[in-house]
Amino acid sequence: EPTETLLEVNNIEVIYNHVILVLKGVSLSVPKGGITALLGGNGAGKTTTLKAISNLLHSERGEVTKGSISYRNAPVADLNPSALVKKGVIQVMEGRHCFEHLTIEENLMTGAYTRGAGRGEIAKDLEMVYEYFPRLRERRKSQAGYTSGGEQQMCAIGRALMSRPETVLLDEPSMGLAPQLVEEIFGIVKDLNEREGVSFLLAEQNTNVALRFAHYGYILESGRVVMDGPADELRENPDVKEFYLGMS
Ligand code: ATP
Repeated sequence: EPTETLLEVNNIEVIYNHVILVLKGVSLSVPKGGITALLGGNGAGKTTTLKAISNLLHSERGEVTKGSISYRNAPVADLNPSALVKKGVIQVMEGRHCFEHLTIEENLMTGAYTRGAGRGEIAKDLEMVYEYFPRLRERRKSQAGYTSGGEQQMCAIGRALMSRPETVLLDEPSMGLAPQLVEEIFGIVKDLNEREGVSFLLAEQNTNVALRFAHYGYILESGRVVMDGPADELRENPDVKEFYLGMS
């Protein structure tokens, strides 16, 4: 059966401060039930693409000046982030944004409010998050600001899950984390994808790890998609090997 497309980014251009052209016609699509990786080096435009989708560019003086973005065939250009969350799309920002003065559990609870779910349902979702992230259960009473970088990343993902998203836009989950933790977090992402059916669009500089866990990848360079394909094909591609996987 054909896979359903959830998110469709069609030839978007993004300009910062009215002059700096950062995305020069980016197109990509995110199918239901997939893990889609958006790859590329520092400054390639990964974060900008995710922020364009969740309408977070305005505060950065950025603007989508061309192209279109739709979710389930409906344009999302006029939706603010909370309206997008209601549609099932949530972004986990780069740098693990947790509320430092709240406990892990309080942080997770803030993720449920956007949804207006009942208490029973929230308790069930909290249990679901703790099942995927046993470390968060252990640390649930700890103030987030005093937990490790890996735990804060988990907390940011867990909080997003509390809105019961259909699609998570995950920005650079590996940033600043030791390799073993990166494996752990990607493993959980894979489990969430397989068992809960959550779709992911994952921006990553760590091509190696991302292509092992994703189904499909797009490679961005200077604001353009220069290559895309199934993850296993990209991993075998000689150019990808040479320029992104550090082996030829
Ligand atoms: P990183 O991994 O560093 O986040 P990235 O691929 O996510 O890289 P972006 O953060 O999207 O890249 O940045 C793409 C380009 O846009 C960079 O050249 C960056 O300097 C520029 N840029 C990002 N934000 C702004 C802004 N608010 N104003 C002007 N230029 C910006």
